[in-house]
Amino acid sequence: MYPEFVGIYVGLGIVIVLLLALIVLAIVILKKIGSAPVRPVAAAARPAAGVATAVTPTAGGNVVFCRNCAKQFDNSMRFCPHCGTNR
Ligand SMILES: [Zn+2]
Repeated sequence: MYPEFVGIYVGLGIVIVLLLALIVLAIVILKKIGSAPVRPVAAAARPAAGVATAVTPTAGGNVVFCRNCAKQFDNSMRFCPHCGTNR
């Protein structure tokens, strides 16, 4: 009976150590993601949005681009006036 207890404690200890290692790993990874220079991706993703907002002044509101025909129309419209696709 005694050896079984020892086995349980050893197993618990291993599990706790593994959990702690996982938590430390998660914290390290989260910190890396948080501080990582994600700028290149954001910069690469921006030009499209920048172009979209740069063309907007005509309508006064927000202009969106149809994902089907790529024509622009007002953000308040639910459907593309050119092809009728639900945005
Ligand atoms: Zn369209």
